[in-house]
Amino acid sequence: MPALAIHALAIHGGAGTIPVAGLDGETADAFHAGLGAALRAGWLVLCGGGTALDAVTEAVKVLEDDPLFNAGHGAVFTTAETMEMDAAIMRGSDHAAGAVAGICGPRHPVEAARLIMERSGHVFMAGAGAEAYLRDAGLEFMPPEYFATAWRREALHQELARRASGAADTRSDADRHGTVGAVARDASGSLAAATSTGGYTAKRPGRIGDAPVIGAGTYADDASCAVSTTGNGEVFIRFTAAAEIAARIRLAGQSLERAAADVIAALANHGGDGGLVAVPAEGPPVLVFNTSGMYRGFVADGMVCTAIHQEPYRRTRL
Ligand code: ASP
Repeated sequence: MPALAIHALAIHGGAGTIPVAGLDGETADAFHAGLGAALRAGWLVLCGGGTALDAVTEAVKVLEDDPLFNAGHGAVFTTAETMEMDAAIMRGSDHAAGAVAGICGPRHPVEAARLIMERSGHVFMAGAGAEAYLRDAGLEFMPPEYFATAWRREALHQELARRASGAADTRSDADRHGTVGAVARDASGSLAAATSTGGYTAKRPGRIGDAPVIGAGTYADDASCAVSTTGNGEVFIRFTAAAEIAARIRLAGQSLERAAADVIAALANHGGDGGLVAVPAEGPPVLVFNTSGMYRGFVADGMVCTAIHQEPYRRTRL
């Protein structure tokens, strides 16, 4: 079934990209394939008459299953060599929202956030209490080994050794962090956003980033836009990045493109490296970043469009 023009979908796989020089063709292909699979999963929902909320859930689940991305399977490690995941989801029509922080267990943290939104009576849950609630609610759990990958563990060991030696931090963005996220608009014009992350390599246990903070890393409001961010979460929280974009549209009449570009530029002045994907109430998605790259993609004119750095989008048929 052809999608109505009103449908929109964009995703990101984090602003922590492997530097251009270090990215071989095979690895780049794998990233493009992962992004493409997520876009197809989300688009299928929209084409079947599904909601934006379902579309972002499905797109993020695909990225959480893909070990290349820092969310779910493939999440980064804390200094204690544990994994603590954060996620959030929000629906623009009624500002329903769910968020979870510091958990390791649910195979799909985005589903954990959604379950909290739909069934818990709360918006934001964290740690052991959240895990116990989610387990009792019947969410799919996996053992810690499922989430762990050798290259993320190696990145932690290298970082701990560097800190112990006092050497300068020369890691690439890719060694440090990443996140996944999706934004969508469905046939009813409703918007949704979802974000999921392991945070930063060698973050302190207990540290929570912007991804699960409603209005910072995740936000959806049908009157303005839906936003999912990636980057230096502390700065995104301090500037309530996602809600700031929505407020500029609503109160100052800015276009999404202008508001997103201005906020990302302003964050850069405060050490807020990163980017975001967003969809407006009408019109195409916006994908912006102030880093050297951001794994990202959108669907347009029957084509899946994906990119990593500043190169032209790679376009493949749906
Ligand atoms: N924003 C994420 C966090 O602060 C990390 C990232 O996107 O790279 O946890």
